[in-house]
Amino acid sequence: MRLLIFGPPGAGKGTQAQFISRRYSIPHISTGDIFRENIRNDTPLGQEAKRYSEAGELVPDAVTNAMVKERLSQPDTENGFLLDGYPRTQDQARALERVLPDGTSLDAVLNMIVPEHEILERLSKRGRSDDADDTILKRLRIYHETTEPIAEYYRDRGILHDIKGVGSIEDITQRIIRAIEQTA
Ligand code: AMP
Repeated sequence: MRLLIFGPPGAGKGTQAQFISRRYSIPHISTGDIFRENIRNDTPLGQEAKRYSEAGELVPDAVTNAMVKERLSQPDTENGFLLDGYPRTQDQARALERVLPDGTSLDAVLNMIVPEHEILERLSKRGRSDDADDTILKRLRIYHETTEPIAEYYRDRGILHDIKGVGSIEDITQRIIRAIEQTA
């Protein structure tokens, strides 16, 4: 099962991805988590990513694409994976297509739908260093301008599933599972 969980910052992608990755025994690949881990360990990749992520901006495509390509070459992804936070630009979406060999393209894209006021409330409570007010607004703007349009590309291919991302965590997980089972 090759899955992508898609949606704005604060949509609950990370929380849901943990349940889904466990249920289907596929690795959860979060580009945000990989960047944060590299920043924590002060690796060259972390040093490069830090200034962008602190400012609420996207890390350049070339850096991000190379990192994901390397991660998807690991043997644990052979039976599938759950991508979280990638692709976020048209260039990344195209790079992902190139990385996935014929017949191994995404099975389903889970499009988390959460109203803007709820997102702002969640993010202001989360307290991550890139969750300061002006950074939140910048990340949301970049989401709407650059990332959100990619959903239509997946919708055109018939693999996009809109998931209502409000309510209890368990209810949202059930909606996601139902959408996945439709594709299986
Ligand atoms: P996230 O936890 O997914 O919100 O990611 C945190 C930060 O990591 C983002 O604000 C970006 O600076 C960076 N990042 C994560 N994923 C990507 C991506 N696909 N492309 C560019 N930058 C990313």
